[in-house]
Amino acid sequence: MIEKRQFYINGQWVDPIEGNEHQVINPSNEEAAALISLGGQADTDAAVAAAKSAFPSWMATPAQERIALVEKLLDIYKSRTEDLAQAMSLEMGAPIDMARTQQVGAGFGHLKNFIRAAKSFQFERPLGDHAPNDRIIYEAFGVCALITPWNWPMNQITLKVGAAAVAGCTMVLKPSEESPLNAIIFAEMMDEAGFPPGVFNLVNGDGVGVGTQLSGHPDVDMVSFTGSTRAGTAISKNAAETLKKVHLELGGKGANIVFADADEKAVKRGVLHCMNNTGQSCNAPTRMLVERSIYDQAVETAIQAAGVVSVASASEEGRHIGPVVNEVQFNKIQTLIQKGVDEGARLVAGGPGRPDGMNKGFYVRPTVFADVDPDMTIAVEEIFGPVLSIIPFDTEEEATEIANDTEYGLTNYVQTQDSAKANRLARMLRSGMVEMNGQSRGAGSPFGGMKKSGNGREGGVWGIEDFLEVKSVSGWSSE
Ligand code: NAD
Repeated sequence: MIEKRQFYINGQWVDPIEGNEHQVINPSNEEAAALISLGGQADTDAAVAAAKSAFPSWMATPAQERIALVEKLLDIYKSRTEDLAQAMSLEMGAPIDMARTQQVGAGFGHLKNFIRAAKSFQFERPLGDHAPNDRIIYEAFGVCALITPWNWPMNQITLKVGAAAVAGCTMVLKPSEESPLNAIIFAEMMDEAGFPPGVFNLVNGDGVGVGTQLSGHPDVDMVSFTGSTRAGTAISKNAAETLKKVHLELGGKGANIVFADADEKAVKRGVLHCMNNTGQSCNAPTRMLVERSIYDQAVETAIQAAGVVSVASASEEGRHIGPVVNEVQFNKIQTLIQKGVDEGARLVAGGPGRPDGMNKGFYVRPTVFADVDPDMTIAVEEIFGPVLSIIPFDTEEEATEIANDTEYGLTNYVQTQDSAKANRLARMLRSGMVEMNGQSRGAGSPFGGMKKSGNGREGGVWGIEDFLEVKSVSGWSSE
């Protein structure tokens, strides 16, 4: 079994001061795969103290030098693709090919985009011609606690560490206790890249322990959190006492509005997108809203598309989906599927229980419900599994209303070949992102939500700005 009990603090691998043993379970076979430590208050304090003492000189380090270190990190990251992919596949169940391309690939893209954005970012700029002696300085926010989830682990870690590093912040990363191994590899990369001691620190732990210690710590200036809305609320409350900045990236319940004039691949694309990463994506299009005139055909297409989604162990190569992350998630998804049946939605693919022939591992059947009422639990709650709800609609106004009638607001999707209608929808949908006709958002675009999906923006220029304070200076003389 893999043993990784140490933390990375002040440029060194150190033994925990108060660590409790924690087993990482392989969701593909339910067996213990690794042993780590969950830190305690003394470990958190040591990491925060290291970040605090490294802050003044890191903040004052010229931006070009900080960017150069992130460039070095990117080279090392590329060379460790296989290690990262194997770790994520083992601990959170991403099928190995998907882990190599999508999971590792996401982190690569984010680091590259931060480097590009930071190179042209004006950390100091004039206020305007009307005030020649005023300067606006974008200054590092300070000591940041970075708390990340398990579902797209390297995506989340690079979005936070990459931005904080180029901005001049120092940091303590607490990855999810479900997926600590990829984060440990990432810490090895930060070490190899040569970031000064204390700039980046890693302490493993759980939410009630290290997570809570960080969000309440008097020497932490900002918490950047990605995870559930439940934990986001707890963190905000705990951080309020010390009035720290809280950046939140939370859950979602994306609508995918398919109009009668959508391209012919729209429904299939929507099903596969919903099932990708075994449905464990905050931006998954889990509510498919279909215009009534093509509704029956769309349900048929969705049944066929779900039918070809195969389920297998994460260690197998191929294009299947893997297990969900753990027993708690498995049970939660099973309960919600059963609720869909009990509340009267029409089950047209998948359903409760494991796929045929699988009796070990947290595998879920790719499931599609049709005739879902927008008020049913499966249309309201974030399921975080391969479960799609199809809802009919008659008019554009009704579709917009259903799409917006959710406490979340992360990503919505629109499928129509009428460009004026698409643009109208893009303006009306209350979400941080709208993706239309299967076109992914461009490199370096901001990722983030509205309402209970959070308040932050990650990636590119916006991601860097979230780690910066804006300082206004008058009486500035041009040297
Ligand atoms: P989670 O909230 O249970 O855990 C996320 C992280 O927060 C973990 O590191 C956990 O240890 C920590 N944590 C839990 N409770 C805490 C507390 N009270 N104080 C401090 N830290 C705490 O979420 P998860 O199950 O790991 O991830 C799935 C959730 O993340 C989903 O809701 C998903 O939508 C969301 N997510 C959002 C985005 C986004 O960018 N909006 C991206 C990925 C995942």
